[in-house]
Amino acid sequence: MSETPTMVALGEDYPELRDAVRKICERYPGAYWRRLEAEQAYPSEFIKELTEGGFLASLVPEEYGGSGLPIRAAAVILEEINASGCTASQGHAQMYIMGTVLRHGSEEQKRRYLPKIASGALRLQAFGVTEPTTGSDTTQLKTRAVKEGASYVVSGQKVFTSRALHSDLMLLLARTTPLSEVRRRTDGLSVFLVDLREAKGRGLEIRPLEVMINHNTTEVFIDNLKVPAENLVGKEGEGFRYILDGMNAERILVAQECIGDGRWLLKKGVEYAKERQVFGRPIGQNQGVQFPLARAWAELEAAELFCRRAAALFDAGEECGADANTAKLLAADATWNAAEATFQTFGGFGFAREYDIERKWREARLYRTAPISTNLILAFIGQHVLGLPRSY
Ligand SMILES: Cc1cc2nc3c(=O)[nH]c(=O)nc-3n(C[C@H](O)[C@H](O)[C@H](O)COP(=O)(O)OP(=O)(O)OC[C@H]3O[C@@H](n4cnc5c(N)ncnc54)[C@H](O)[C@@H]3O)c2cc1C
Repeated sequence: MSETPTMVALGEDYPELRDAVRKICERYPGAYWRRLEAEQAYPSEFIKELTEGGFLASLVPEEYGGSGLPIRAAAVILEEINASGCTASQGHAQMYIMGTVLRHGSEEQKRRYLPKIASGALRLQAFGVTEPTTGSDTTQLKTRAVKEGASYVVSGQKVFTSRALHSDLMLLLARTTPLSEVRRRTDGLSVFLVDLREAKGRGLEIRPLEVMINHNTTEVFIDNLKVPAENLVGKEGEGFRYILDGMNAERILVAQECIGDGRWLLKKGVEYAKERQVFGRPIGQNQGVQFPLARAWAELEAAELFCRRAAALFDAGEECGADANTAKLLAADATWNAAEATFQTFGGFGFAREYDIERKWREARLYRTAPISTNLILAFIGQHVLGLPRSY
């Protein structure tokens, strides 16, 4: 959409990073992603290239082998991946999961894990929070970890644990003190770094879970798995706060990823609306086609402003919970509306796999549900921004 100057009204920050990411993405066209989806496979080569280029270690501080960039730079990387038609979510978790180790891990853990994560020698792509029976109500999760000597013995079940089959480590949230024995329900949860290479077949089993997009998500069954006590991150019982702490980064990064998808989709929709001739004129000349695309542009630009605001607050070390959540809410909606506008513009060809519209449309739907659903963000705003009674 280079001939549409307003599309870059906000200016492209980090142009050198964007350029480098675009160059990698050029080697992974739609056909690559369609083949992976048909095979339900993981983009190992793509993630390897991003890792070797240092992109997934952009938030790891330099002293631990990363590039120590601001969150805005990491967000730009993810945006560009999606704006190039690729899928950032296949590798994005590495960027924000490691933050829990960085902020709350011991110096020994940081030295042991972060340089290897930065170099790609260790993959930390899996994050086990969601469970089949507890969903958004995280404090009710059932997975238990009981201290026995030098280990914790863990039993329970996780669902939607994405990339677990393509990760060496998993950050796991489990209850260490029963709910009946804690003062606040947010107490008594703990975070562990589980070495999946050792755990598989010794109390941990991973089964792929087919979903409507190629997300390499799984179910994880844990039965009397021994996790060395040294793999506890931070203090026992404080895990819920550690996870919450990392959520602002996750929201900001995922929101910008949405913007990338929205931009890819809108660009395709606008190009098609200009080219496709029906009734002797381009379909984009009809306001019924043009206006949804114009509205999608406006919504994406507005959401992007909020994303930048949240990232700026985060990078300044300011409180940004409401901003990060709002950025995610607005970006998810803007992207979904862009997906719908483009899908409709493509008519029947929107369904034809070779155009990738239906693939991106399906992928764009995810953000209204994960990593946090729209309702839960609205509940957060209602309570924490507007001061309304807690609704959940
Ligand atoms: C493809 C995919 C990948 C994922 N990857 C991961 C991962 O790697 N790790 C991980 O831990 N999780 C992952 N998730 C899980 C995701 O974070 C959850 O699906 C999401 O948080 C919603 O939880 P739930 O599915 O249990 O929905 P539920 O909590 O059961 O909610 C169902 C619906 O009810 C609504 N709802 C519930 N309570 C309220 C309320 N009080 N007020 C208003 N509305 C309410 C919700 O908004 C939602 O729309 C993934 C999910 C998907 C689909």
